[in-house]
This record gives sequence, structure tokens and C-alpha cells, in this order.
Amino acid sequence: MIDLHSHSIFSDGTDTPEAMALAADAAGLTALALTDHDTLAGLDRFMAMQPRVATRLVPGAELSCRFMGRPLHMLGLFLRFKDPLLVERMASMHRLRLERNRTMVRRLRDRGVAITWEELAAEAPTDLISRTHFARVLVRNGAAGSPEDAFRRLIGDDSPCYVPFPELSPATAAVWIRAAGGVAVVAHPGRGFPRGFRWDQAMQDLKAQGVHGFEAYYPDYGPLEERYFLQLAETLDLVPSGGSDYHGGHKPGQRLGVGRGGLRVPDEVFGRLATLARP
Ligand code: AMP
Ligand code: MN
Ligand code: MN
Ligand code: MN
Repeated sequence: MIDLHSHSIFSDGTDTPEAMALAADAAGLTALALTDHDTLAGLDRFMAMQPRVATRLVPGAELSCRFMGRPLHMLGLFLRFKDPLLVERMASMHRLRLERNRTMVRRLRDRGVAITWEELAAEAPTDLISRTHFARVLVRNGAAGSPEDAFRRLIGDDSPCYVPFPELSPATAAVWIRAAGGVAVVAHPGRGFPRGFRWDQAMQDLKAQGVHGFEAYYPDYGPLEERYFLQLAETLDLVPSGGSDYHGGHKPGQRLGVGRGGLRVPDEVFGRLATLARP
């Protein structure tokens, strides 16, 4: 069993990279990828754990992109994470995220919602602030009843105070990932897009733009959706990847490797992706 999608304290998870490597080992996972949002900051600590665990540790990241007007996430796996160009590119993302966050705080405050920059910075364990941290501050301040409520009314993809990142196209993300020897995998297709969205056509486009695969295994998928994406991967000759999207305490009930219990990403997926990487 493998898990190629997870988050630590370096984005919006609650576990350290060390704890995650140890937990994956204890759970008997063959491989675990750390894929924090728009940052490489946790990878040094994560990869330093390799001599202590049998689980193959995979350095990755989840890049925020836009595709056909909707947010799309692109996983980069097997990244040469010390590659200077990649490091600089990711630093530029970090600056854009910072600006985006400041704009969101302003929008919320303009609507009379109680939130300060200082509260937000204190909520995040590292200098990467995500909407997950916004949601927690909004709940604590009584501006939302729950994180779900905060996303529904204030900061979700279709909400008034949400500000998307300046466009990073999937093609650009694929270029960044490939230039660092990595493999580009579209995260959780089907999430954040309207029902009936033509993923068959979209994936064909994305393949032409440099994508190697997409997640066909994901905790939120029902059996029909999983079968649909597995079939689509086979038809288009793309690799069907997958993972738990583990966030520790920020996504309760979601466990490394198994998701809510039923997730199983076959070991052979690791081999297929590793073959495509250029270490
Ligand atoms: P950001 O990258 O700062 O825009 O934040 C995106 C993160 O917010 C995602 O990775 C999720 O962890 C979380 N998120 C997005 N939408 C929702 C939602 N509707 N409910 C709960 N969490 C969400
Ligand atoms: Mn997240
Ligand atoms: Mn995502
Ligand atoms: Mn994720």
C-alpha cells in the first residue's frame, strides 16, 4: 500500500514531517509522498528520515493552479527539491500566496468580519498560511460556526472573500515539475469542478500539456468515480495515482494510507511513476 498525497505543518497539516514518516513506517506503507501546498519547506526534514524507515519517502508538492476558470491542484512527485530553479519558482509562489492572503484579510475586514493578520500568522505553525488557517481563526472569533460554515459562506472557492492565486496554468506547473526531474499528477480531479465536467476531454488536453497522470484513488471517491477514473487513465495511457490527502487533525477521520479506511493505492503505481522521474 502506498500514499502519494499528504500534508504536514509546513502547509495545512498538523503533523511534523518526522512524525508522518514514522507513522507511515508503523502502518507498513511501501511509500509515502509529502506534498505540502506550494512549498518545499518540509522536504529536508522529511527526506532526512529515510535511513530510519523502510517506507520509501517521496519528495513532492501540491501546486495551486487554475484550469478553465476553476482551481486545479497539481502534484509534483519525485522532485529534485534542492534544484535552484525550482526553489526560486516556489519562492515566487510563496510571495503570491502572501499577497493573496493579505487581500483576503482586507476583504473579510471590509465586510465587518473579525480577523487580523496577527491572529492568522499565530494560527499557522510555519510561515505558510492557507485557507485552513483562515477557517480556524474565523471559527474561534465566532464569525463562522464551523470550518465548513466558513468555507461555505466566506472563503470557499465560490465565496465573496475568496481570492484565487494569480494564474499558474497546469502547463506551467508541469514545466516546473519536469524541469526538476519530477512527475506531474493532477490531484483529485472531480473536486472543485461542476458535476458533468468533461474530465475525459480535459485530461486529454492536460496530457498534451505535460501531465503524467492523475489521482484515480482518493478518499472522497465513490466506487463508480474510482472506476471511471481508472478506466480513463487506461484509455489515455496516464498513470492512475492516489493518496489520502492526509492533513492530520485538520481533516479528522482521514488516516495515512487508508484514508477513511477503504483507500488502497496499489504498490505498482509507485513503480510506474518512479520510472517516469529523472532523479
Ligand atoms: P489555499 O491553498 O490557501 O487556497 O487553501 C486551500 C485548502 O483549504 C485546501 O487544501 C483544503 O485543505 C482547504 N479547503 C478548501 N476548500 C475547503 C472546503 N470547502 N472545506 C474544507 N476545507 C477546504
Ligand atoms: Mn489543504
Ligand atoms: Mn488539493
Ligand atoms: Mn492536498
